[in-house]
Amino acid sequence: MPILNQLITTVLPFIPKTIVGQVAKRYIAGVRLSDGVRVAKNLNEKGMMATMDLLGEDVKNANETEQVKKGILSILQSVKENKLNSNVSIKPTQLGLKIDKELGYRNLKTIIKEADRLGNFVRIDMEDATTTDDTLTMYRRLRADGFKNTGVVIQAYMHRSESDVCALVKDGTNIRLCKGIYNESPSIAYKERQEIRNNYLSLLKIILEAGSYVGIATHDDYLIDGACEMIQKYGLGKEHYEFQMLLGVREKRRDTIVNDGHHLRVYIPFGEQWYAYSTRRLKENPHMAWYVTKAIFIR
Ligand SMILES: Cc1cc2nc3c(=O)[nH]c(=O)nc-3n(C[C@H](O)[C@H](O)[C@H](O)COP(=O)(O)OP(=O)(O)OC[C@H]3O[C@@H](n4cnc5c(N)ncnc54)[C@H](O)[C@@H]3O)c2cc1C
Repeated sequence: MPILNQLITTVLPFIPKTIVGQVAKRYIAGVRLSDGVRVAKNLNEKGMMATMDLLGEDVKNANETEQVKKGILSILQSVKENKLNSNVSIKPTQLGLKIDKELGYRNLKTIIKEADRLGNFVRIDMEDATTTDDTLTMYRRLRADGFKNTGVVIQAYMHRSESDVCALVKDGTNIRLCKGIYNESPSIAYKERQEIRNNYLSLLKIILEAGSYVGIATHDDYLIDGACEMIQKYGLGKEHYEFQMLLGVREKRRDTIVNDGHHLRVYIPFGEQWYAYSTRRLKENPHMAWYVTKAIFIR
């Protein structure tokens, strides 16, 4: 990471929220469900699919998880009413995973059941390493309870991911493959850029060879090109994969993927709890230091 970006990353918690919000607004649809719906409609019109995400994580009390659950059920309803091509992404800790695993599971199951009734799909995002086992356990319970309209996320930076993927593809799990965003210890995660890329492509190969559906979630040209080569080599149709990108990131590259005839889904976050997500996105932006400095000094 360039030195100036490192410096801004260190002082980011002390920068006023209004400035962070100003710089990060491209990553967020807005604060209301109607903002998410508007952005999803717009992307659908351009031939892209969507996944909507009600922002929020690490919820600390049970009453709050009830509100989150209702919010996510409203997204599913809205997708149906507006005939959107969108599924939903959720974070286990926003549904109570860290308060009480049973509560988290009950909330998630209610959402998956409603999605199933409406003919929709729910992606269970992967959070930091303290939640990996519990998240995969919840997924397996859902499958054992008969639900097929859900899938998980695998992070290529985790050492454990190869064994997780090998187990998951045995029952045809729908997997989103990403690099991983949390700051994990080198004892459990790869830290070097190229090591993570290599692992990403080797996991992708395992998934594609097993015939599981995969969401190729990356903005990295090296990985996009590597994935395209594999897709071509195996002669895969669009029923096997889709590309996925985050709202506000690499829009030109996004358009070329769609113009090349691939399916692509955009992750659309919205909601009041935008701060934690926005700072993670900002830290990944190679021009972050410049944007933040400009927002502070050139108003
Ligand atoms: C659809 C989707 C869902 C995801 N879900 C999860 C999840 O559940 N769990 C999880 O841990 N992680 C998740 N991630 C995040 C992911 O793990 C990475 O942190 C993120 O995608 C950046 O990795 P990259 O592969 O794009 O490579 P990078 O090397 O980070 O990015 C490649 C290039 O893209 C551009 N770029 C990347 N990010 C930005 C940005 N914020 N602003 C401007 N330019 C940028 C830069 O030009 C950069 O050089 C998800 C990512 C996507 C796309």
